[in-house]
Amino acid sequence: ALRITEECINCDVCEPQCPNNAIYMGAEIYEIEPAKCTECVGHFDEPQCQVVCPVECIIFDLDHPEDHDQLMAKYQALTA
Ligand code: SF4
Ligand code: SF4
Repeated sequence: ALRITEECINCDVCEPQCPNNAIYMGAEIYEIEPAKCTECVGHFDEPQCQVVCPVECIIFDLDHPEDHDQLMAKYQALTA
């Protein structure tokens, strides 16, 4: 999964781009629900939120490391 850092400026651009509805407004900044984030595997070639974020504050979540097979399995579970 990816995560959003404190650099987020709440520009709202990433939230509608997520194919898994994993992005939501948190207490102060936007956040990503790790259980729903497939790093866009299954939908796109690259993480769409990272592509659109103007301040590049979306990074890999080192607390939730996943390989491609795990991300694909998550995609299949989410779309089952
Ligand atoms: Fe959503 Fe893809 Fe960003 Fe994960 S990487 S939060 S699935 S847009
Ligand atoms: Fe925050 Fe980046 Fe999303 Fe804008 S695109 S709300 S700055 S994470």
